[in-house]
Amino acid sequence: MANNRVMVAGVEVSLDHWIGGRRVASVNRFANASPIDGSDLGAVAAGGQAEADMAVAAARAAFPAWAALGAAGRLPILRRFASGIMTRAAEIAAVETADNGSLLAGNLHRMVPRAAQNISFFAEWALGLNDHAIDHPEVVNNVRYDPSGVAVLITPWNAPFMLTTWKVGPALAAGNTVVIKPPEWAPLSCSLLADIAHAAGLPPGVLNVVQGIGEEAGDALVNHPDLARISFTGSTDTAKIIGQAAARSITPMSAELGGKSPFIVCADADLDAAAQTVAGQYINAGQVCLAGTRIMVEASIEAAFLEKVRDAVDQMTVGDPRDPATRVGPLIHPDHFARVAGFVERAKAGGAQLLWGGERAVAGALYFQPTMFAGADRDDEINQKEVFGPVLTWQTFVDDAEAIAIANGTEYGLAGTLFCGDEGRAMRIAEQVVAGTLWVNCFFVRDLAAPFGGSRMSGIGREGGTHSFDFYCNIKNIAVRKGSFAAKGV
Ligand code: NAD
Repeated sequence: MANNRVMVAGVEVSLDHWIGGRRVASVNRFANASPIDGSDLGAVAAGGQAEADMAVAAARAAFPAWAALGAAGRLPILRRFASGIMTRAAEIAAVETADNGSLLAGNLHRMVPRAAQNISFFAEWALGLNDHAIDHPEVVNNVRYDPSGVAVLITPWNAPFMLTTWKVGPALAAGNTVVIKPPEWAPLSCSLLADIAHAAGLPPGVLNVVQGIGEEAGDALVNHPDLARISFTGSTDTAKIIGQAAARSITPMSAELGGKSPFIVCADADLDAAAQTVAGQYINAGQVCLAGTRIMVEASIEAAFLEKVRDAVDQMTVGDPRDPATRVGPLIHPDHFARVAGFVERAKAGGAQLLWGGERAVAGALYFQPTMFAGADRDDEINQKEVFGPVLTWQTFVDDAEAIAIANGTEYGLAGTLFCGDEGRAMRIAEQVVAGTLWVNCFFVRDLAAPFGGSRMSGIGREGGTHSFDFYCNIKNIAVRKGSFAAKGV
């Protein structure tokens, strides 16, 4: 058994794959460094075709018994899995922060508890999946949610632990087995997830982890012929490549992708709350898919609101994400830093007005200042493309029609935020914005039963509550003629 383990933030983490209930090493390995200070976090196993084949075979072998357990049989194991996550919450949060630079307090108090809920919530929900019957004059339609097989789950680096459980929870609760491909820029917390699953008693092969580079390990997995589902969260460009693999084998694919979400502020809104929430879009250095990155303000309040936002942003501490006072941590990787800085330089060169920020915040490190551009044309790159950094744009509108036109004027449709004091107006605007989630006078809160996903270039499908099972299950209607089983011999 492979034993390539390192200590990260005081926690022992395996750098190997987890396949068929054991650690598996690879000859090839890739470097992994902390975005906080560039420190070496160890060379991680880089999987390829052989590891993908091994993991899918293990997941296939484990599938019949896991599926046969039924939702009630899986429930106690998945409950132990969820509580195992909470038991190790501080360790998971510390490793995640070291690995991807996200805020430690946010990981400890929000992301890890949410991850545990992702497991327990869907395990409970699955108990009632097959209770659904639709009456017809001649037949009863018994709707069944059957396990579908092996699901490959591919996740991004900005919130890998929570986003992985968002897929693992419903996939396992549905009776599927899974192969996870963690992100190569933040591979470690998923390794802990495998340890926790094992300790909770998940049978070997039910949950597998293949570490590696997207174009190698990820590509081998999504092209495997024995998959039942591919669930992907990441960039729109990668989804287009994975979608071609899914199309070749007609494998259902869900895609949760990027965004350039509008943040609309009406004149009669609670402007203090709105300003605080605008500043909150810089959290985790803006590396949040749902962030409202296009601030759109009713023209009559522009000057007053701008000052409130400026005051709120001035309170944001940029620095070490382990410090509880920090709100804006580092960007994930030097390549990503260069990408974000490139957007900023091109916006400056194109004549956009820099309201604040626009520079590296700490010499020689991956911290970037919270940045705001005004005056860019609606069609300019900075108003159209996802930067995935602490970079917002500022626009104004004079009436609702203009607000809606600007909001819908990108290729994305992931989310939107609206601050408004009038319920009727708020709902009229909200109904017309193209988005999977539209927050009114709030941000980032959602019940796990509610649908989540993106429209247009922001995704395919919805997950959450029954929507997750619609994706992970083979749905079948057993239509039984009424009276055809009349009691005999009575
Ligand atoms: P990415 O698309 O570069 O990578 C995502 C994952 O795909 C990684 O694990 C990567 O290794 C893998 N991958 C890359 N190429 C692959 C290939 N050819 N075959 C199979 N797998 C491959 O995205 P990223 O940079 O890691 O993440 C940032 C993006 O994710 C942003 O666009 C962000 O908006 C999006 N995101 C979306 C959501 C959401 O729920 N909608 C949540 C978080 C992040």
